[in-house]
Amino acid sequence: MNLVTTAELLTAWEQGLSQLGTRRLLTLLATAFPEVSDEQLFKLPIGQRDGLALKLREALFGSQLTSLAACPGCNERLEFALDITDIKVMPSNPVQETLALQVEGVDLEFRLPNSQDLMLIEAASSVDEARSLLFGRCLLSVAQAGQTQPFNKLSETILDKVEAAMSEADPQANVQLDLCCPACQHNWLAAFDIASFLWSEINVWAQRVLNEVHLLAKAYAWREADILAMSPTRRRYYLERVMQ
Ligand SMILES: [Zn+2]
Repeated sequence: MNLVTTAELLTAWEQGLSQLGTRRLLTLLATAFPEVSDEQLFKLPIGQRDGLALKLREALFGSQLTSLAACPGCNERLEFALDITDIKVMPSNPVQETLALQVEGVDLEFRLPNSQDLMLIEAASSVDEARSLLFGRCLLSVAQAGQTQPFNKLSETILDKVEAAMSEADPQANVQLDLCCPACQHNWLAAFDIASFLWSEINVWAQRVLNEVHLLAKAYAWREADILAMSPTRRRYYLERVMQ
């Protein structure tokens, strides 16, 4: 993993502005992990990709984070803190390329969803369409009594089992937080998506950095590149003087 400079992160953010969620996370990761090729990034199972995103978040802003959730019971806005070490899953086994399962006499072979799959289903018009597209891509073979079967004839029970097996094989892809509402004591599981969380943080960070560049360039007539090359501490030091 590379130490990402302010200028590099800003460039990745600018590129990400015109991209959708999955693609923009890969743009950020490509900047931080040049040792992983674009093709490898696209094909990483979602949990492994999110593991890299957590590493990047930790390197950029530390391991503590604060997030928001709305209580499904009473709509109360809840702010909660967590540490990346609490949600980081240590893979116990190397992730297998192909997984197999037998349900109700049907033999299934499948692979884990990756970013390429997610990018294709981002354009789907409904959850059902997205689910069907995803299974169509990830189910590699379906057979009953040695006869190949079409995947779209599979029952919901079988598809649910495949989904559960995917989740189990790649637990980092599905982080659930156990939350309790202080107002109504409602207890629920909330999904935590590092991709959108990290993007919102970088978006806020980029606005702040650009504002700093604006103020310093205006006050001292320094070049953008020179201001971005300064450490955040030094930028703050000059800014304090500008604001006096
Ligand atoms: Zn509540």
